[in-house]
Amino acid sequence: MRTARRTARRTTGAPPRVARNDRSSSGTLVRIAGPVVIATGIASPMYEVVLVGTERLLGEVIQLQGDRTVIQVYEDTSGLAPGAPVTGTGRPLSVTLGPGLLSMVYDGIQRPLPILRERTGDFITRGARLPGLDEKRKWKFLPKLKNGTRVTGGEVLGTVEEVIGFEHRILVPPGASGTVTGLRAGEFTVTDEIATLATDDRKTMPLRLAHDWPVRIPRPVREKLMPDVPLITGQRVIDTLFPVAKGSTAIIPGPFGSGKTVTQQALAKWSDADIVVYVGCGERGNEMTEVLTTFPDLKDPRTGRPLMNRTVLIANTSNMPVAAREASIYTGATIAEYFRDQGYDVALMADSTSRWAEALREIGSRLEEMPGEEGFPAYLASRVAEFYERACVAHPLCDGKARASLTIIGAVSPPGGDIFEPVSQASLRVAKAFWALDASLAQQRHFPSINWLESYSLAREALLPWFSENVDASWPDLVMRVSVTLQEEAQLREIVQLVGADALPEPQRVTLHLARLVREALLQQSAYDEREAYAPPKRAFGLLRAILAYQEAAQAAVARGVRFAQVESLGYWPRVYALKYSTEAKAVDALIAEMTGALQGAGR
Ligand code: ADP
Ligand code: MG
Repeated sequence: MRTARRTARRTTGAPPRVARNDRSSSGTLVRIAGPVVIATGIASPMYEVVLVGTERLLGEVIQLQGDRTVIQVYEDTSGLAPGAPVTGTGRPLSVTLGPGLLSMVYDGIQRPLPILRERTGDFITRGARLPGLDEKRKWKFLPKLKNGTRVTGGEVLGTVEEVIGFEHRILVPPGASGTVTGLRAGEFTVTDEIATLATDDRKTMPLRLAHDWPVRIPRPVREKLMPDVPLITGQRVIDTLFPVAKGSTAIIPGPFGSGKTVTQQALAKWSDADIVVYVGCGERGNEMTEVLTTFPDLKDPRTGRPLMNRTVLIANTSNMPVAAREASIYTGATIAEYFRDQGYDVALMADSTSRWAEALREIGSRLEEMPGEEGFPAYLASRVAEFYERACVAHPLCDGKARASLTIIGAVSPPGGDIFEPVSQASLRVAKAFWALDASLAQQRHFPSINWLESYSLAREALLPWFSENVDASWPDLVMRVSVTLQEEAQLREIVQLVGADALPEPQRVTLHLARLVREALLQQSAYDEREAYAPPKRAFGLLRAILAYQEAAQAAVARGVRFAQVESLGYWPRVYALKYSTEAKAVDALIAEMTGALQGAGR
């Protein structure tokens, strides 16, 4: 991995060719240990893809030990026996990037699952090869460049309207450069030549609608920028208290049943990314089924178009081979980067990174490596960091002015919910936002069960100016005030446990009353209630305003000597609460005016 990465940097992003020694491209299997097999007599270098056995199972070289070549196999290895042939392909593990990716469902190595299933039934035939993109379909291509133009990697050759309203920009593969000839408009498949590149070293290279890229090599950008625009998630607790920046990272750790998958899916549905890549990694198959059955009916709230049109799904569920699970997050990241390179905002969700880490552990143990903490390989933390480092906001190669981003959001499922374990700790070190799911909140049906005292966002300060400009100038102040109310409640609760709520002074009873409103109206949000499943900041702002106006008026009344019981009896709590379902700013204004008047008049 390290050597490959270094090569990539040196050549400023050229996809590294696997240096191949043609002396012997085939060898013999000598040992099989689950997903890891060993061959001898093959000259394949690190990370070359090899075909194993007579069924030609897909594998990748992951270690070289003298004459022995260690290979991880992406398909079920049962039935393989020593003596079987192993053949090199001369290529690293790659994905094919071009029109036709959107709304696809892939396995961890970009095999289109629905098509595979049609051909081979529920049990995918081993060695089944299918191209990642439909090679028969024709796309209407419109060139953006004149022939004779000098181009470098990442530039836009032209466009294809992949789905209605989405311009798929066809890029010169990063790393290539030269002069374009023969570029023309027309209807092309992804394998047709659309132009020729006369490269600087006087060779010619065919250009197509699609190109391949090795999944383990991050795709290059022109210049990385500071993330200062939020990814709007439509989840009130996230957007108000713990926002994540476009191009940044967040993790969702939580025990089983605390709501990781529902949260990830809500983000995949509602966040304001142009493209969403959702990696279902090692979780139960029925969770992916849920995605597959609900997504096709959903519409993007911003465009009104089917959500699937902006989504790519990668499913490597717990019953699928473990090595393909290891690859699945790289496959996802590479597809996501490809859309970023076209100038778009992309969000990548991985559920769950813990299952991916377990795949690393299983493969590591077959390598007889010295295990690190809890049996995970010693390189776990660096692999986790490298994965999240693929998130960025940047000027893409195609346009020095555009801002494009890849945001990465990973679920973490620590065994027993204890985050003092290697995967959570490695993720915590690199993630910029931390949404701690809490089993006891989930038990109380407080959803999303994001613990507001433990969670944080390092981006909050940097994102406040955006909210001030785009939602309302008072946003930072209101957010600070609800945070203070929640903090005060946490302290008061300790006292309440000792002496009971009735013993508290009146102003503090108002604080508890309001904190409950913040929790139940603002922070709780049902993913299954159509009225609030998606709540953009403008609506959250109305609710914030009403809650804080109520708080201010109630505290003022109590300060004048009005009893808390009387404030409560005016019945505003449920009416403010109901605003979470309201989309009308006018309703907020009307209630605030009424409440303020009534509370000012109370006790006079
Ligand atoms: P995990 O992935 O952490 O194991 P899930 O995401 O499957 O947990 O959530 C478990 C259950 O919690 C869901 O089936 C659902 O009933 C409930 N739940 C989680 N989040 C929400 C939410 N935002 N709104 C309503 N219910 C939720
Ligand atoms: Mg789950």
